[in-house]
Amino acid sequence: MKSFVLIEPGKVGWFDSPLPVLSPYGAILRPVALAPCSSDVHTVFGGGSKKAPNLILGHECVAQIVEVGEFVRDFKPGEVVAVPAITPDWRDLGIQEHNFGHASAPFSGHQLGRSQPGVFAERFGIPDADTTLAKIPEGVTVEQALMCVDVVTTGFTGAECAGIQFGDTVAVIGIGPIGLMAVEGARHLGAARIIAVGSRPVCVKLAREFGATDILSYKDGDVAEKVKAMTGGLGADRVIICGGQDEAFAQAVDMVRYGIGTVSNVNYFGGTGNLPFPKFSGGRGMAGKTIRTELARGGRVRIQRMMEMVKYGRIHPEKLITHRLEGLDKIEEALYLMKEKPQDLIKVMVCVDGE
Ligand SMILES: [Zn+2]
Repeated sequence: MKSFVLIEPGKVGWFDSPLPVLSPYGAILRPVALAPCSSDVHTVFGGGSKKAPNLILGHECVAQIVEVGEFVRDFKPGEVVAVPAITPDWRDLGIQEHNFGHASAPFSGHQLGRSQPGVFAERFGIPDADTTLAKIPEGVTVEQALMCVDVVTTGFTGAECAGIQFGDTVAVIGIGPIGLMAVEGARHLGAARIIAVGSRPVCVKLAREFGATDILSYKDGDVAEKVKAMTGGLGADRVIICGGQDEAFAQAVDMVRYGIGTVSNVNYFGGTGNLPFPKFSGGRGMAGKTIRTELARGGRVRIQRMMEMVKYGRIHPEKLITHRLEGLDKIEEALYLMKEKPQDLIKVMVCVDGE
């Protein structure tokens, strides 16, 4: 079958991959809508850990079920479902210790397009359909469901792990798709003031729409100093890092409050080496600032909950989609759009025809 693969680091292309094999609890699916994301860009161009040769890429997908295994209870062929980007193996013993993202090994929850073939292919397999696939509620569109499988849950994970309290001042560093959903998540969790840090006009506009009360551009100078000045010298109660290079981590520690502040990171820091921890604003190691480093929450129930938020009109993640392409062939173009980020782009989706 036709599939879009990582040939070697930095090089992608089309490949004739073997069809997925059906397992007793699993399902075989056909993509209906796909989205490449920044983490695909990192997988290809970021020089991460070693990947299998000709690994099928992709983990953001709404799909139609083609076939189910003999022990699958809740799903039938023909059904269109949302496929979570993070698909923990719920039989991993680490799950019993509430270690959902890294139950059996680092990043064991992130399987699609990493330790298992991804979704950028004519077919893909899911080993455990009942615990993984998410039912799309009535009234939720394919586009909305597609945004829930990764972007919404990741942004919301950043907001949840920040421990937001009513009345908080929350800074969100990076307002690409994930940061925009972190803004939305912070608003829903009770943030009073939301300072969005970013400058692309298309993102700034949506940040305001999703609940940002203030916008800070990197071009305005030191954003950490600005946040402190805006908060009477105290700093933000919570900082959510959703983008930026290594210095974003130092800025987050700089701009968060002493004693009760939390930095919640869902950003990918590429390369090797260490992140900079500012000794002074870190209180020489005694500032009482909490740092959380989180992989997005996934699995069936989580993504169904994200889609409930859409169904009842609480969130509008379809607004993130600025570009639409038709046909599986367009995945390559879509991936390069995510890499090159033209001014008017937030998120691109690819619709795949039926057969
Ligand atoms: Zn993604």
